[in-house]
Amino acid sequence: MRPNKAELIEMLSLSGKDELEELYKRAYEVKKAQVGTKVYFRGIIELSNICTKNCYYCGIRRDNANNNRYIMQKSEVLEEAEWAWKQNYGSIVLQAGEREDRWFISLVADLLEEIKSLSNGELGVTLSLGEQSEETLKLWQSAGAHRYLIRIETSNAELYRQLHPADHSFARRLETIRTLKRLGWQTGTGVMTGLPGQRAEDLAEDILFFYDEDIDMLGMGPFIPHKDTPLGHLVDGFDQEKALEAGLKLIATCRIALKDINIASTTALQALNPTGREMGLLAGANIIMPNITDVKYRASYQLYEGKPCLDENASQCVHCLERRIESIGEEIGYKQWGDSPHYLGRK
Ligand code: SAM
Ligand code: SF4
Repeated sequence: MRPNKAELIEMLSLSGKDELEELYKRAYEVKKAQVGTKVYFRGIIELSNICTKNCYYCGIRRDNANNNRYIMQKSEVLEEAEWAWKQNYGSIVLQAGEREDRWFISLVADLLEEIKSLSNGELGVTLSLGEQSEETLKLWQSAGAHRYLIRIETSNAELYRQLHPADHSFARRLETIRTLKRLGWQTGTGVMTGLPGQRAEDLAEDILFFYDEDIDMLGMGPFIPHKDTPLGHLVDGFDQEKALEAGLKLIATCRIALKDINIASTTALQALNPTGREMGLLAGANIIMPNITDVKYRASYQLYEGKPCLDENASQCVHCLERRIESIGEEIGYKQWGDSPHYLGRK
């Protein structure tokens, strides 16, 4: 049933400590019943911070000159993918700035084929590489990727326009999501919370958008300002606690309203509180994306201020994460893709 907008706004507007605890508990019950309490890992590889776009909020936007641009060597990506596979991770995510040139498109296709081959087809691969043509999406799908994450950022076209330069197109972003669905990808989207000008009503509309577009996965998180961006002036008045609360409320409300989709507890939550990702799991998320990028690149892939684990390598990260997940009584779904039950139901 299509969620009720007034009820969504009500949940998104809760603020008292007890009321919020109730909301998170309710979401956790829905999570237990619909997707269980196994957490699936997607090891994220930040392939490159080179981006042709200029989103006003993002630290790796094209015009940020205070950023060393890099693209990882093919061998480095393959080593990290192999490491994830040997650690029994079910999947990895390849993420980068957006570019659509031939060289990059074939690099990604080659990487996909080699990752599939080195892991005997066992490692699932999600891509998060922004807007792409149907031809490119077909190529990457046939090379072995099966999930794609592309946030709509906000489903309010006017708000989207305010957060991006004039040559960035809401319509094209939406079209990419729809093309992915049509081609049979397991499709994820998401929004940021706490965007300047965003109201609870906008977030309720975002959830209705996820429902109407029949989305399989969500990756959402608080907007955190970055000093070297046009929205950087918001760094000073930024309220971390409020931002964390808004991120958790959105996860919980999405779990209650959308039930059997996969929801990621994103790194942005951890940037606001060392246990932010565990809080996300307790508010209804079931996916974690541990950063497995070599530490030498991490400082150059800062989308926002305060990115965590800048100097911790992947194996240090995974051990502390394991302990944290066990401490909240959940289990890690090693060696499993952990596909979205919503997607499997649709298929
Ligand atoms: N370039 C691709 C794209 O835009 O889809 C993938 C990488 S992009 C860095 C991944 C996500 O980072 C974006 O969808 C955006 O929501 C998020 N992001 C960027 N700047 C952010 C910020 N300041 N705070 C929180 N999230 C941010
Ligand atoms: Fe580029 Fe994605 Fe950042 Fe926009 S959000 S500037 S497309 S990396």
